[in-house]
Amino acid sequence: MPAMCTRFAPSPTGALHVGGVRTALFSHLMARQSGGTFVLRIEDTDRKRSEERFTEGILESLRWLGLDWDEGPFFQSQRDELYRQAVEKLVGAGAAYPCTCTPEELEKAREEAREAGRRVSYGRHCRPGVGPGPIAGRPHSIRFAVPLEGEVVFYDEIKGRIAFAVEELEDFVIARSDGTPTYQLVVAVDDADMKVTDVVRGDDHVNNTPKQILLYEALGLEPPKFAHLPLVLGPDKARLSKRHGAASVLEYRELGYYPDALVNFLARLGWSHGDQEIFTREELVEKFAIDDVGAAAGVFNAEKLDWLNAQYLRARSPEELAADLRGFAARQGRSLRGDEAWQARMVATLRERVQTLADLLGAARYFVEEELVFDEAAVAKLLVPEAAPVIEALLERLEALATWDATHLEEIFRTVAEERGEKLGKLAQPVRVAVTGGKQSPGIFDVLDVVGRDWSLARLRAGLEKCRAAGPSA
Ligand code: GLU
Repeated sequence: MPAMCTRFAPSPTGALHVGGVRTALFSHLMARQSGGTFVLRIEDTDRKRSEERFTEGILESLRWLGLDWDEGPFFQSQRDELYRQAVEKLVGAGAAYPCTCTPEELEKAREEAREAGRRVSYGRHCRPGVGPGPIAGRPHSIRFAVPLEGEVVFYDEIKGRIAFAVEELEDFVIARSDGTPTYQLVVAVDDADMKVTDVVRGDDHVNNTPKQILLYEALGLEPPKFAHLPLVLGPDKARLSKRHGAASVLEYRELGYYPDALVNFLARLGWSHGDQEIFTREELVEKFAIDDVGAAAGVFNAEKLDWLNAQYLRARSPEELAADLRGFAARQGRSLRGDEAWQARMVATLRERVQTLADLLGAARYFVEEELVFDEAAVAKLLVPEAAPVIEALLERLEALATWDATHLEEIFRTVAEERGEKLGKLAQPVRVAVTGGKQSPGIFDVLDVVGRDWSLARLRAGLEKCRAAGPSA
C-alpha cells in the first residue's frame, strides 16, 4: 500500500462534534495504516466566525482522543501569499477573470434563477469572450472560468462514480472583492501544497469537489482521491444533534468516557468489520478500510456508546480504574479520600454497576463523602421502629469486632439473623439505607468493609436514631 497523506481540515467556528471527529479518525487511520502522514489544517478563513478558543478546543479534542498529527497545525489565515499567487496564476492563464457585477445585480440574477428553477444564476456577464465584460472603475472579485462543455467525473471511495455536467457548475468566485480567497480556492491550493493524496470529508462537500478538481487541473496539479462520508444521524434519522444526546468531544471527556471507547464507537459509525464490536487501536489501524464504509448514514446510538465504555472501564484493573477516577475527580476540583489501595478496593466493588467515570464518581459518593444523601422514600420505608432492635443487635457486636473485613462482617450478620430468626436480606435492608443512604448498593459486607469501621458505626448509630424517632409505620 503506498503511503497516504490525509488531512483533517476543521473550521474553528464551533466545538468539535461526533460527525467531525469521525472524519478525523478515518483520515488518521488511513495515514497510520499506510505508514503515511496525517496533516492538521485549521480553516480559519472566515475571520468573523473563527475563534481562537474553538481552535484550542479542536486541538485539545484530537489530543485527548490520541489522533496525533504529523504536520501542522497549519492556519489558512497565515497563508495568504500562497493563495494570492494561485489566483494570479489562474488569471494569467485565462482560467479566471475579474467580475465587477454588484451584489444587487447578483442578487437579482439569483432571484431570476430561483423563479426559473435554475441552479446556476451567474450569467457570465464579465467573462471574456462570453459576456459583455467587466465595467471599468468598479471593485472586482475573481471568478473561475468553468469549461463551457463536458463533465467533471471522479470516483468517490464510498459513493462510486460521480459526474457533474459543467452546466451545473457556476463560474464560482475564487477571490472576493476585498482580495480574500474563498474556500474553494484555499482547499485546492492547500491540499496540493500539502501533498494530500486522499481527501476524506463530509457528504456536504460533494458539490464542491468538481470545482476543486477544475482548480487542480487549471493549476496543473493532480487531484487527490476523494471519500465523502455520509452524515451521522440520530436514531430518528434526523441529522444528529444535542437532542439525541450527542455531545461535543470534550463534553464526552467531562462525562467520564474513555477516549478509546469513543474512538471505537466513532469507528463503528458507518464502518464495520464482520460483526466485531470491540477494536483496539491496533486492530482499527490494521482493519480499517475506507471502501468498507457504508454509503448509508451512520446512526448514532447513545446506549451503544455507554455499553462500549463500560467494556473499557471494566477492562481496567482496580488500580488503573482508581487512578482514572482520581484524575476525573481532580478535573472537577475534587479528591477521593483514602489511600490508593483503599480506592482500588472501592472501585472494584462498583465497577460492574457503572458505565462511565461520572457514574462511578456518583456511585462512590457514600464511600468518599462523610455526609450521606438519603433517599427519603427508602428511609421512610426501612428506617422504622421495627428495625431498631435489629440495628441495635448488630451494633453491639460490630462495635466489638476485632477484624473489620467482609468475612467477619458476614459472620456477625449471620449470627444475628439466626438469633432473631430473620432472613439475612431483611437485616441488610435497613443497614444499607443507614450506611449508603439508599436501597441500591453492592453486597452489604463489601460496602461496610470499604466504608470502614468508623463511618459505618457512626452511620448505624445515626440510623438507629432515625428508626427510634420515626412514628409507628402504617
Ligand atoms: N473546513 C471544512 C469544514 O469544516 C472542511 C473542508 C474540507 O474538508 O475540504 O467543513
